[in-house]
Amino acid sequence: MPEIKPSSIKSFYKSTTGKLALTYLLIIMIMSVGFSVVFYKTSSNQLGRQIPPPSFYENRTQGFGRGTVQIRGSDFDEFFQNRIDEGRKELLIRLIILNLVALIAGGALSYALARRTLRPIEDAMEAQSRFVSDASHELRTPITALRTTNEVALRKQRLSISDAKELIHHNIEEAEKLKNLTDGLLSLLKHDGNNISLSSVPLQDIVGEAMNQVLPQASEKNISIDDQVQKINVLGNKQLLVQLATILLDNAIKYSDEKSVIYMKTAIEGNYALLSIKDEGIGISASDLPHIFDRFYRADRSRSKINREGYGLGLSIAKKIADQHNAEIIVESTLDSGSTFTLKIPTA
Ligand code: ADP
Repeated sequence: MPEIKPSSIKSFYKSTTGKLALTYLLIIMIMSVGFSVVFYKTSSNQLGRQIPPPSFYENRTQGFGRGTVQIRGSDFDEFFQNRIDEGRKELLIRLIILNLVALIAGGALSYALARRTLRPIEDAMEAQSRFVSDASHELRTPITALRTTNEVALRKQRLSISDAKELIHHNIEEAEKLKNLTDGLLSLLKHDGNNISLSSVPLQDIVGEAMNQVLPQASEKNISIDDQVQKINVLGNKQLLVQLATILLDNAIKYSDEKSVIYMKTAIEGNYALLSIKDEGIGISASDLPHIFDRFYRADRSRSKINREGYGLGLSIAKKIADQHNAEIIVESTLDSGSTFTLKIPTA
């Protein structure tokens, strides 16, 4: 698949803006010129009607100041005709000037409109190309690790059973990582739309299912979970909310030290339910906090520690799910003393 460079998006945007602006201008000018032609024709016909018919002059006299004169048709005709010709000429000049103004103002307006129309499309294309390049960059790491270890094993003259088993074990681990990564990417794409069915779901059920999923990790680190979730019904999609709660719980375990405690509490605030997950883990620095919901973002401290594997996709998926529920994830964290992630979601 050819790489979409930001520069190619820019040039596409520029040329498309030009084409669209020209189309808009063409429409404006067709309307303006069309209107002018119709207006000129109608007005010029109306002006022509000012010349009286020949019968008007027959046996007609008219007082002009001091005396009475016989009206002569040809003099008046000439006079009227000149006035009409002048009127038509003036009308034509004014309409031409009006159309020139329409051309200049329409040009500027068309360009501004074209930019406005295409800006969201350009943003979407840029986001798409960033997504593809981020994803391929992240996919490359486990694939390279897989290839290198297998090549090294192949170069060996002899491979003992234990070496072969170690290699297979490593391959399975890397395959698992790749699966998690592709699952995360698919999840992100899946949550791009907003068409989910919402129903009344008990928070206790959501938390219960999420806890079942993370219990093995928690018991491996001897972490206990203090579950004080009350009976509150929220408006949501159960499967998605379980995924969201699992991400928050999984992070709380992943970024906590062994034998620590994770506290889960609920509260009501107006029409919202609050579910908070508090850990006593490594915390998040003030400089990292604004970025943790960005795709593929991982704080340096999280990367450096072993057994804190991840791709920086969890929270961006959690945020998308929250957005789909008109919910919010609020984070409070102090470095080295812990973090609290609170889900604020409409009650049912
Ligand atoms: P991942 O955990 O796979 O790195 P996430 O998107 O879930 O990706 O989290 C992004 C980053 O936010 C993590 O790398 C970590 O630095 C930080 N983070 C998230 N949850 C916690 C937590 N409970 N305690 C400390 N840091 C956290």
